[in-house]
Amino acid sequence: MDTPSVLGPCGRLELILGPMFSGKSTELQRRIRRHQAAKRRCLVIKYKRDTRYTREECICTHDQATMSAFSCDTLADAARFVSEYDTIGIDEGQFFPDIVEFADRLADAGKIVIVAALDGTFQRRPFNDILALIPRAENVVKLSAICQICNSDAAFSRRLTADQEVELIGGADKYIAVCRNCYHKTIHNTTTAAENEKISPTPPPLSPPLSPVSLEASSPPR
Ligand SMILES: [Zn+2]
Repeated sequence: MDTPSVLGPCGRLELILGPMFSGKSTELQRRIRRHQAAKRRCLVIKYKRDTRYTREECICTHDQATMSAFSCDTLADAARFVSEYDTIGIDEGQFFPDIVEFADRLADAGKIVIVAALDGTFQRRPFNDILALIPRAENVVKLSAICQICNSDAAFSRRLTADQEVELIGGADKYIAVCRNCYHKTIHNTTTAAENEKISPTPPPLSPPLSPVSLEASSPPR
């Protein structure tokens, strides 16, 4: 049998799943900063059409924390330089059409791949192909948010507008995190969160603690 030294370093795939406002991007950044602290070359990739909060080349969490990132529509756009990195973080992984093949191939190549993604749509259906990564991953967590109606733990995203398209990018203007009971509860005015006095327009901060080590953000590729 081949030994790891023959095969090279063993890669791994980690999934960070959860609804909107559950701290997925924050957790991705926390893990990436740990790898930066360990002197690994880190690349963060974000979805190009997600221009919430900033148009800079960085990923943003809902609490405005940022980290430099390469943005693209398909992960194949990063293929030409991804071999230069040891650890690759992918934010909003559910939006990339080639997420399964790309993440699995990099992990097979010895990379540490960390994917943050919505597991379900606003209708609680699998979000594109993202769930196909679960049987290929070494580690999977599902984070919870705080229900913005009753303050219980929230596992689901609820859309506040009548749009039916799956890929409707937005923040607190279009979505709230809800628990199971409140997912099914009738909201009388579902136009915007601000118009419904039962719903806080600003999601509560729920970030896991960031690494205390101060680090340079990863540089986007040339
Ligand atoms: Zn609730």
